Amino acid sequence: MDKTVGILGGSGGQLGRMLAASASLLNIDVVILDVGNHGPAKQIVAPRRPETSHIDGSFADATKIRELAAKVDVLTVEIEHVDAHVLEEVESSLPLGVHPRPSTIRTIQDKYIQKKHLQQAGSPVSEFLAVESSAKSIREAAAMLGVPLMLKSRTLAYDGRGNFVVRDLGQVEEALTVLKDRPLYAEKWVPFVQEIAVMVVRSANGAIASYPAVETIHKDNLCHLVFAPLRNRDPSVQERARSVAEAAVKTFQGAGVFGVEMFLLEDGTIYLNEIAPRPHNSGHYTIEACETSQYENHLRAILGLPLGSTALKVPATAMLNIIGASSNHQEITSFAQSALSAPGTSVHLYGKSECRKGRKMGHITIVAPSHAELLNRLRPLLEQVPGGNP
Ligand code: ATP
Ligand code: MG
Ligand code: MG
Repeated sequence: MDKTVGILGGSGGQLGRMLAASASLLNIDVVILDVGNHGPAKQIVAPRRPETSHIDGSFADATKIRELAAKVDVLTVEIEHVDAHVLEEVESSLPLGVHPRPSTIRTIQDKYIQKKHLQQAGSPVSEFLAVESSAKSIREAAAMLGVPLMLKSRTLAYDGRGNFVVRDLGQVEEALTVLKDRPLYAEKWVPFVQEIAVMVVRSANGAIASYPAVETIHKDNLCHLVFAPLRNRDPSVQERARSVAEAAVKTFQGAGVFGVEMFLLEDGTIYLNEIAPRPHNSGHYTIEACETSQYENHLRAILGLPLGSTALKVPATAMLNIIGASSNHQEITSFAQSALSAPGTSVHLYGKSECRKGRKMGHITIVAPSHAELLNRLRPLLEQVPGGNP
């Protein structure tokens, strides 16, 4: 394929790395804009021509974004916290544009505006309110929505960094200290019984396809485990989750994959939590377990190529994140090494130079001929995972 894809890198680099790995299979050139010269994505892409050399800079640096745009046919992102104004400015100069569209990134990157957009478009979202960064405003929100109250930073949020659960009004000052200087909004606490995610892929001509709904298990706001297919006795949840996700993605412009996070309530109600306009942690499993991975379908979508099948090709799969428990890199490597001897596992290490508590360092995908066998294969891994069993 004689096309060059530019990636605005950021969140840690693993999504860009997996996107680049997928691009290499289709012989697609990739140019990465990221801070430093040895991030997870750059490590695995040796530029073939001087014109496709990588760029050292931030996804928020307008000059660097313009420099990247001048080198590629299409721009895409691995993080939504990019400078959307500059993307708008360069969009028309790129042969295949910017995907997802800068207007989509702009709406999604402010979680309050995103929720408003989804609400107005008819997506099922739970109650939420704009709040000022003051104790008075947060107390008023708590009076309206009750406690626990989920306070969220509107911008620059990821991995729950930007969320604060106000369990009682005595914590309001602490919340303001933790989330200081960040624009905030508040969500009603959702007493979900399960978290669900659906990856949706949208082609340049607007065609939509979704991956199977999966169960995501979070600990301390971080995704630890993903199970596919969805483990739920009610078969309607799978189809309802997919249609909520597809309908929501249809309201945004531009091509690519979108990760749609949802909550399932006891009575079967589904609420949409948030959307990521890019490959997503809950879709890592698609590399080994689906006919076309989320990464390949993202590339196909933004390059105007035919989309691949989103179907599962194994009866059962799980994805276990390898998350740093401390600065000790050795325990990550040892765990990854021991996982190699478990049947049906594929180990991914992201090549991050520093290990930190709460940092995503890699993941393991496990495939199995049945759900029972999947659990047999997963159990010993859960016992050894750094940071303890999620
Ligand atoms: P991501 O890394 O997925 O972008 P984020 O920082 O944007 O994370 P959210 O997805 O808003 O954070 O929230 C993180 C987690 O916190 C959710 O997956 C869920 O477990 C919990 N959570 C979020 N909102 C609520 C809510 N209103 N009620 C109860 N729990 C919630
Ligand atoms: Mg988020
Ligand atoms: Mg989230």
